Amino acid sequence: EEVTVQLGRRSYPVRIGPGLIDGAGAAIAPMTQRKRVAILTDESVAGLHLDRLCRSLDGAGITHAELALPAGEKTKGWPEFSRAVEWLIDEKIERRDLVIALGGGVIGDLAGFAAAVLRRGVRFIQIPTTLLAQVDSSVGGKTGINSASGKNLIGAFHQPTLVLADIDVLKTLPKRDFLSGYGEVMKYGLLGDAKFFGWLEKNGPDLAAGDTALRQYAVAHSVQMKADIVARDETEEGDRALLNLGHTFGHALEAATGYSERLLHGEGVAVGCALAFELSARLGLCSQEEPSRVAAHLAAMGLPSRLRDIPAELPDDESLIRLMGQDKKVRDGKLRFILARGIGKAFVAEDVDMGAVRQVLAESRAA
Ligand code: NAD
Ligand code: ZN
Repeated sequence: EEVTVQLGRRSYPVRIGPGLIDGAGAAIAPMTQRKRVAILTDESVAGLHLDRLCRSLDGAGITHAELALPAGEKTKGWPEFSRAVEWLIDEKIERRDLVIALGGGVIGDLAGFAAAVLRRGVRFIQIPTTLLAQVDSSVGGKTGINSASGKNLIGAFHQPTLVLADIDVLKTLPKRDFLSGYGEVMKYGLLGDAKFFGWLEKNGPDLAAGDTALRQYAVAHSVQMKADIVARDETEEGDRALLNLGHTFGHALEAATGYSERLLHGEGVAVGCALAFELSARLGLCSQEEPSRVAAHLAAMGLPSRLRDIPAELPDDESLIRLMGQDKKVRDGKLRFILARGIGKAFVAEDVDMGAVRQVLAESRAA
């Protein structure tokens, strides 16, 4: 199965299916004249899936060097980034060579940014290994690292030349990481496809339990939705902002919990989507049934939907609102939210009434 991200000369295919890592060598060989690649990965993923990739590259006569960085969000900062870039230089990776990102969103974002700045831009391939990376971060060309003052504040747009989403690798993903990625899958239904959300309500539990065909459908459909939005608005001048549904709240909650295991990115997005729908209902944009349906689905999947579901002490409303403001989705000092006129009908709302935001937060905290 293949989805194309339509960006003129920079268009690229996203392949989705089982066994794609075993076929990676054959897929990549025609793309590299010198038959040389550098693989960036993390230590956990290296232990699970790197051998398979290396064997496939060997089989295609491609020489490869590998660097495995520590797993986790902390890796997405200057120290590991500079280590990666210096390593690529030591490995004599040139503009006509290829960088491969094998891992989740952390490795994809860091390796993509390293490829963007190395020699002013080297081509790179995404082999996403988490559900979150397959449906979201590997597609669309946003790359970058975190700054001491906030997440993803340093980065570049740099589109990959190929994305291989191997559905099989999701089998080794811990349940909690899988569900975190599911938060982003659900986001696509909520922002623009009510029918897909209905499909998820029906199939979500089986998909989480491991059904490969259902997983492939959900990944391909999510990627198609993201590809369409990115093709319309590559650099987030307009429609691409819809992908931030749940993220203004979500990022504030992630910041409040220190970007730690206490709240994974997709879990924050899940709560954030629920809050965005609550806020929409409170502002009279949709009926109360819509947020109730969102919360019910999250509960059925075992994802958090309210602030009180987050197993950590959260700061007060004013601090949370301040953290929302530090999110980069701020324009002219006004808070921008993605709200919805119902499931599948999200839109960008500027200048949202902060009183309503406070009420929604209070309700979501209360037992
Ligand atoms: P991650 O990369 O940290 O992966 C989560 C954990 O799963 C890690 O410990 C990793 O080692 C492990 N892992 C990865 N694949 C595995 C597998 N197949 N089996 C077992 N374990 C595996 O986190 P993530 O959730 O993939 O990505 C989160 C990051 O993505 C955040 O930094 C976020 O900002 C970023 N992001 C970027 C974009 C974008 O457009 N660029 C979009 C959304 C999120
Ligand atoms: Zn996200």
